[in-house]
Amino acid sequence: MASDNNAPPTRATQLDQLPGTGVEPPLVADAGSVNWDGEFDVIVVGLGAAGVSAAIEALDQGARVAFIDRFEGGGTTARSGSVMYAGGGTALQKRLGVNDSPENMFNCLRHEVQDAVSPGTLRKFCEDSPGNFDFVTANGTRYSGTLFPNKTSYPVHGHSLYYSGNELIYTQDAEPAPRGHLADGIKRFTAFGPAFIGPLIKSALRKGVTPIRKSRVNRLILNPAGEVIGVEAQQVRGGWTGFKHKVFSTLASYAQIYFAPAAKGYRKKLFALEQHCAKPVRYRAKGGVVLAAGGFILNKDMTEQYLPKFQRALKLGTTGDTGAGIALGVSAGGMAERLGTATAWRFINPPVDWPKAAIVNLQGKRYVNEAMYGAVIGTRMMAENNGECILVMDKPLFESSLANLNLKHSRFVTWMQAKTAVRTAKSAATLEALAQRLKINPQTLQQTVADYNAAARGEQADPFGKQPGDMKEIRQGPFYAINMSAGKGDITSVISLGGLQVCEQTGAVLNQNGEPIPGLFAAGRSAIGVASNAYVSGLSIADGVFSGRRAGAHAVQRAQSAATGRHTSAGQPHAHAPAQAEAPAQAQSPAQARQPA
Ligand SMILES: Cc1cc2nc3c(=O)[nH]c(=O)nc-3n(C[C@H](O)[C@H](O)[C@H](O)COP(=O)(O)OP(=O)(O)OC[C@H]3O[C@@H](n4cnc5c(N)ncnc54)[C@H](O)[C@@H]3O)c2cc1C
Repeated sequence: MASDNNAPPTRATQLDQLPGTGVEPPLVADAGSVNWDGEFDVIVVGLGAAGVSAAIEALDQGARVAFIDRFEGGGTTARSGSVMYAGGGTALQKRLGVNDSPENMFNCLRHEVQDAVSPGTLRKFCEDSPGNFDFVTANGTRYSGTLFPNKTSYPVHGHSLYYSGNELIYTQDAEPAPRGHLADGIKRFTAFGPAFIGPLIKSALRKGVTPIRKSRVNRLILNPAGEVIGVEAQQVRGGWTGFKHKVFSTLASYAQIYFAPAAKGYRKKLFALEQHCAKPVRYRAKGGVVLAAGGFILNKDMTEQYLPKFQRALKLGTTGDTGAGIALGVSAGGMAERLGTATAWRFINPPVDWPKAAIVNLQGKRYVNEAMYGAVIGTRMMAENNGECILVMDKPLFESSLANLNLKHSRFVTWMQAKTAVRTAKSAATLEALAQRLKINPQTLQQTVADYNAAARGEQADPFGKQPGDMKEIRQGPFYAINMSAGKGDITSVISLGGLQVCEQTGAVLNQNGEPIPGLFAAGRSAIGVASNAYVSGLSIADGVFSGRRAGAHAVQRAQSAATGRHTSAGQPHAHAPAQAEAPAQAQSPAQARQPA
């Protein structure tokens, strides 16, 4: 196959390949020669889903833990939909009478995860899922609602469990089971908030984590042997300055979600404050540093370089999403992979009837099964179809979709988005006239609709695997089109999925030889994980809990080994791999190293 010379890069192994992160090359020094401002077993950089899970896990194992966050903590997780993808028989699934097993969950999820992690790791993710859900509830997050039985992109108030991915699509491989676990506390009108992470942060604080806020980690500190022994951060202090920092960072993070243009102004003020008032501080980590600083979707330089096709989508994240966690790992010899992978969201349900219509591009051709999860639609739309998305319906389908577009079936925020899209609808008496209004070749659109109708009648298989039960014929005029292309009508948003390559057993950041970098771990969107190929609602937070706990546990083991002076040459603890402890570190390929045994 001919290689595409114009394809954007997808990996980075040098700091200068990651512009705009504000990360500097590491400081190399003996631990004894550094003036430390504090000393801990485990330092967690970033307090989102991954960071808080790492911190709690390490605290539960008796470690002295600090989190360092550039802002107040919570990160993008605190502005998210608070959905965690969990299954395999969670306590909530059981309470609501849902049958599921780790095997069933694996059979469904492998379609999304593909080769982002090894099958063994995906299996472990599914087996651990009920336990990870218990971990979350044991630390205070609540799920008191009922089951939402239909497909939707986000359930109405009062529901805690729903089909948040493609469970109703992959029915040949897996029994459909709802796995979107929505935490209590999201307000009735919205779809975003700290419902998931708020209680976890409180729990970590109760358990004794040392909070170090308003501190941007700008470089790692390594000893001459190449072990990560601490971090340097730029810290904003002072009553009034600290207060302004908190206000601007909070306003910027809300604005980016609800009205992105306003966020830029707040960020500018915030950066000026950081530039003029921050002072360097240094903290020592005896066991390890866990990089959990999120993704890079708000880093303009990196998104232009790695995600050029996603530029017109709304960058969904918070101010910390600059790729700093990824760059810190690369600065110590780590590798960033899948930087060209992102998930774009183009939700068309509610109203429940829109997925029964046909989506075409400006060539008048379909490109996706419209019944699939909105991130499948959005990602194909941005990555392969120039951001073009036109929903084509006939009169009965358009009218029935309007009839069920109400606040009984939708949250205010999703209802408002759909209403706004409806206002832009174009109609024409015939398909040919509609195509002309849309500047689409009429013959192509007519053929596309004829093929669609034949598949809806069950006369031929749909090329995108859409089942007749998910389709409605488009045959009775007038015909309607809603242009949902990027930048038109409704909002298409995007988050980054690439990150540091880590050992799938321990979460240790791997160097270019596939060896763990001693004392350095990564989790959440700073790392490659189960959500790094494709996203369904809740998968990123679930990955944060899974990978955060893994990194936290292994950083503690390393601290315990340090206390007894029993590090392996690769810096991995004896407790985890006793048989290999005395052997010299063997160079492995990255693929070998990331596999679980
Ligand atoms: C609107 C919206 C809705 C979403 N809904 C869902 C959902 O319902 N379910 C789901 O699974 N996913 C959802 N996502 C995606 C998901 O929220 C994120 O992918 C996930 O929360 C990332 O978690 P994290 O722990 O990796 O990073 P974050 O939660 O972003 O935390 C990273 C932290 O690191 C800090 N940080 C960054 N740089 C530094 C530095 N240099 N020094 C110190 N600290 C630093 C940041 O301030 C931040 O607090 C949503 C995203 C958005 C934007």
